[in-house]
Amino acid sequence: MKADVVVLGAGMVGISAAIALQKRGRSVVLLDRRGPAEEASYGNAGIIQREAIEPYLFPREWGKIIRYAFNRSPEANLHWRALPAIGPWLFRYWRNSTPETKKRGAAAMQPIISRSLAEHEALMAASGTTGLLRRTGYLRIYRTARELDLSRADSKRQFELYGVPFEQLDEAGVRRMEPHLQSSIAGGIFLSQPGSVSDPGALGQGYARYFQSIGGRLVEGDAGTLVEDGEAWRVTSSSGDVHAREAVVALGYASARLLAKFGYRVPLGVKRGYHKHFHMRGNAGISRPIVDSERGYAMAPMTKGLRITTGAEFAEAEAPPTPVQLEKVEPFARELFPLAGPAEVEPWLGRRPCLPDMLPVIGKAPRHKGLWLDFGHQHLGFTLGPVTGRLLADMMTGEAPFTDPAPYRLERFL
Ligand SMILES: Cc1cc2nc3c(=O)[nH]c(=O)nc-3n(C[C@H](O)[C@H](O)[C@H](O)COP(=O)(O)OP(=O)(O)OC[C@H]3O[C@@H](n4cnc5c(N)ncnc54)[C@H](O)[C@@H]3O)c2cc1C
Repeated sequence: MKADVVVLGAGMVGISAAIALQKRGRSVVLLDRRGPAEEASYGNAGIIQREAIEPYLFPREWGKIIRYAFNRSPEANLHWRALPAIGPWLFRYWRNSTPETKKRGAAAMQPIISRSLAEHEALMAASGTTGLLRRTGYLRIYRTARELDLSRADSKRQFELYGVPFEQLDEAGVRRMEPHLQSSIAGGIFLSQPGSVSDPGALGQGYARYFQSIGGRLVEGDAGTLVEDGEAWRVTSSSGDVHAREAVVALGYASARLLAKFGYRVPLGVKRGYHKHFHMRGNAGISRPIVDSERGYAMAPMTKGLRITTGAEFAEAEAPPTPVQLEKVEPFARELFPLAGPAEVEPWLGRRPCLPDMLPVIGKAPRHKGLWLDFGHQHLGFTLGPVTGRLLADMMTGEAPFTDPAPYRLERFL
């Protein structure tokens, strides 16, 4: 099978890049070891985080670090036995989490985040998936006046700086938006601009069908079989060998493993996260995702039920699941809303692909002709897939990139 480009990885990032390239006249094969959008892009909280301009940094306050280290805070869980393997990455992440890198990171995020929702909306319209989108924003709620005040001050600082609309709510304001809230809280911050979807996996699959409808080919295979083949690339699939002039690595957390084969040492860490769906009692429900900020988890209304998603678990990517954070946060969610029983037995585990500066890698592989990179979208790959796909396609087809791609180069780590 011959193609101009083979895109490796059919998560939100790879599917979006494949569409952007196919639409510009390239013949594209999209390869995955399983179906489209079945890994991180399936199980996330489904928020298109139009507000998330400042990168998620490692905490610098000792109190918080100690709570994280001893697993006293439900928003994080550390596998101590994994430290020899993940410690060097954690150290780089901590070292990168300075006010200076926050400023630089925000400057790099702004051009891509600000187009993220518009790029999704265009793809949704083209692929007939607009029905999955909710334009109801999302809410961050606070249980104590102290945390609410701190968050108000920080929201004012950052959102005014980046021109992101936000609204400060007292408890009554939150109740007006979410009348099924059943316990008392201090208040919240409402972000009206972000979108959210009722089924992230279905959106990815809808985009993949659209890719096929415009002539793209979707195949099953192991990206680990990628080899250089003269001036081109070859990868084995269940539909035969794929030969392509160019290859795009969009394998999420697995991208570094493939790149190691070509001599690149990429500091790609993993923040694991879990979800589980619950039914609500009676006719109770929520109209938008809600982040219970002091308890470190999110609740999002999904087709399957109320999806509770957890914060970060620092562990080896392939270690067996340890969903202790879900066990810790479920009672907190039950305090707030009338949850009934779980909608599934086993929690879902996913992996956020994270570079130490919390920016993605988008661009050329420095030492290999025709090898392109699009991974490391950390907490925001669902948001950023379409817009970074466009940026990559700009670069690959020689069009003027809509923003300077320099901050996303792999060379920053080499
Ligand atoms: C709990 C949780 C909540 C989140 N909430 C949000 C949110 O609300 N908003 C947001 O923007 N982001 C969110 N994220 C982050 C987001 O889900 C990820 O950043 C995003 O899905 C990454 O997309 P991806 O395409 O890079 O990776 P993936 O979706 O993981 O796709 C990678 C693909 O590569 C394939 N692959 C891997 N290795 C091979 C191989 N050897 N051969 C062939 N194929 C291979 C996999 O099968 C997979 O399909 C959340 C993540 C988690 C875990």
